[in-house]
Formats: sequence, structure tokens, C-alpha cells
Amino acid sequence: MVLKSAKSSHRWFIGCQMIFRITLLATCLSIFPITGEAADNLGILGAHPKWAVLEKYQETITRNDFARLIQDVYCTHGFAPDLIEINEETARILMNRQSQKFFTLRFAKSAAARNPVPRLWRTAKSLTSAKFETPLSGLRIALDPGHLGGKWAKMEERWFQVGNSASVEEGDLTLRVARLLASRLRKLGAKVFFVRNSPEPITPKRPDDFRELARKILIKNGVPHPRPDVLDPNDPDKEQTIRWQSEILFYRYSEIRRRAALVNFKLHPDLVLCLHFNAESWGDPNNPTLIDTNHLHLLVNGSYLQDELELDDERFEMIRRLLSRAYDEELPLADVIAGAMARETGLPPYEYPTANSTTKVGTGGYVYARNLLATRLYRCPVVYCEPYVMNSNDAFARIQAGDYEGMRNVNGVERKSIFREYADGVVDGLVEYYRETRGTGD
Ligand SMILES: [Zn+2]
Repeated sequence: MVLKSAKSSHRWFIGCQMIFRITLLATCLSIFPITGEAADNLGILGAHPKWAVLEKYQETITRNDFARLIQDVYCTHGFAPDLIEINEETARILMNRQSQKFFTLRFAKSAAARNPVPRLWRTAKSLTSAKFETPLSGLRIALDPGHLGGKWAKMEERWFQVGNSASVEEGDLTLRVARLLASRLRKLGAKVFFVRNSPEPITPKRPDDFRELARKILIKNGVPHPRPDVLDPNDPDKEQTIRWQSEILFYRYSEIRRRAALVNFKLHPDLVLCLHFNAESWGDPNNPTLIDTNHLHLLVNGSYLQDELELDDERFEMIRRLLSRAYDEELPLADVIAGAMARETGLPPYEYPTANSTTKVGTGGYVYARNLLATRLYRCPVVYCEPYVMNSNDAFARIQAGDYEGMRNVNGVERKSIFREYADGVVDGLVEYYRETRGTGD
């Protein structure tokens, strides 16, 4: 399941509804303004942008490429005119509105005159050709099983249970897929890392560490006396409690930012695969609604909302990502993986009910651009997989059947285990993409 979605009319709380997850942009809460300077307008737990880093990208991109990526991928919902100004030879990007400071990016005069793009990850084309049997040799892949498992799944609202059957916890399902994938990918020559390899969070923080921040966010956003605790899980006002807000600060913002630090400063992968299972609204988790709808889609970073671009850290991270040219690698890769997963699973493409937060990209109809924390913060190509509706009758029965070798009859059809089918689809896509792009040396 994706962590956030369309804008909400009440955009204040760090909100989250069952399916239509919403990151309500807490209006800037600059807790540590820098003395004597205009405070940065930061998102939740956001880092101060280091605009000077962008100097390394001078003359690495042509005006045409920059304008195309802004218009077709990253800023498809528009932006305030003073944020990004594209001129003939330069782009002017707002760093801080209060102090009216701008970063000036100089374009390369032509494709041939471009400076090399500085980056730690390697494109498929830059890898030497590989043996046919080991098309992933030398490739560094980080696996990011979405969410948390075990006891944390209920807190994250990634948990439901039908009667006395085994409970369904997305964070445990994704870890199972990651472990199956890891051994397959290693046999194909890849160097595989886990961003999470247990049900536990990797952030050392816990919800109680965020109680004060949660209280400040609520007060700032019009709840003068926030209640400490959620009294009833079905309480529609639970998002206005310190408990609920401090939990989401822990399991989403703190956890994903910690994962990003691991990816960016330690693992240095060429690619991150974010593994999720999707769901449709299931209502009461103890008496969930099962449905017939089942589908597949993949996400890459892009499609920033106007309000997100107003935040100095998100705007900076978007520009840095654009200039790293991650999209040129992650889009064709996502397209090929989506095609392989579609063949393997037989699932139709998911259609978002609105185009408010996503933009369809690629050629196969399965890939969307969307600005998620993980796809934005991991500084390399990121492919975010969202196959299967966990509370569909078909996926639910297959999750209950567990993992097994070979084929079994589930709901009258011979099927692989859902976990192996998921892993096989991803592996087939990676093999196809890397064999084709880097060549097999014969
Ligand atoms: Zn998920």
C-alpha cells in the first residue's frame, strides 16, 4: 500500500485514512530556525537543503531535457511562478522565499557539450557486458520491504484478520518476498542488501520520542488542546490525538528517513526495489471487506503537488533527483518489470480514481509517477512495486495458502505461491532489462 495520496480538504494533520492515505502537509514547523537567517520552510522531519551541492550539476543537462523533465515528470500539477524560472541558458530556482534567494543552474549548450553527471550509482549501460547466466553480475540492489511487521502492523494499520484465519500483515508479506528475491538475485550475480531484514523498525526512535512534536503540530494546525490518546480505534477524530500523530511520525517519517540514510550513506546501491502489496479500503480490520478487484501498478518518483513544491526541502530534493537523471534509468526499468509482472500475475493495470497525485508515465499502462518519501529520498533509481489487492478474494486465499514450491490448486486454479509469483515477475523483468541494456558479451 502506498503511504499517501490525494490532497485532503483539511490539509493540516499528518493524516492517514484507511486507503486514501494523505500526507497532510503540516504547514512548516520550523523548530530550529537558524538565527539571523530566514528559516527554511521544511516538511515533516525534513532536512535543511544543501543547495551548494547542486553546483556539481552545472552544465550537465540541456535546457530541453530540463524543461521536459519538469513539465512531463516532476511538476505535472504546476507550481507558483517564482519557484522555477526556465530561461534560455539558465534555470532560476527559489531557495528561500523570505530572503528571496535563488539558485542558478547553467544549462549545457548541447547534448555533446554536457559535463558528466556526478552520481554514486551506475547506469545499466555503464556496466560491462555480463555472461548470459549472470546478467546482474556486479549490480548492487537494495531490497526495501515496505512497512513494519509483527506487532507494529496494527499500529501502521497494515493489518486485518478474517474470522479465525491467519492475520494479514503487509510488512511480513513484503519481507517474505524480499527474502525469496534475494537468493534469486544473488544467483544471477547481483550484490543484494536489505534495507530491513526483520519485522522491526530500523529507526532507533519510538512514538513516545515524538509526543512533543506531535503536540506542536496539532496546536499549530488548529487543535489548541489535543487529546493524548485514541479512545476508540473507530473514532473519526483519532488523527487529532497526540498518540496517533506521534505513531505516524515514528513509523512513517522517522523510519523512512532512517532507511534513506542507510541507502544513501552506507549501501550505495545502483537500484532500490520497494516491495509492497496493495489493498482497497477494507473497513473494520477485524471484520474486513473482501472484494473481487485485483490489480497491479508500479511507481517512480515525480508528479509533485504544488503544496509539496512550496516546501524548500522537497523542492531541493526534487531538483537534485531530476539532475541525477535517475528517471532515465528507473522509468524504462519500471516499464520492463511491470510488463514481466503483468505476464506473471495476469493482473490488469490499476487506474487511480483521480489524477490529483499521480501521472501515468511509460509505455505499458502500469507505471505512474508519484512523490512518495522513499522514491524521493533514495538517491538512485527506485522502482516501487504495488501488485495484488490483499483484501481481494483471490489474493487473500493465496496469502492464506502461504509459500510452497510448484503449483497448487487455489480457488479452482493451479497457481504458484503468491510470494514466488511476485518474486519471479520482478526477477524476469530485471533479467530482461539488464541482458538487453548491458549486453551478454556474445
Ligand atoms: Zn504498502
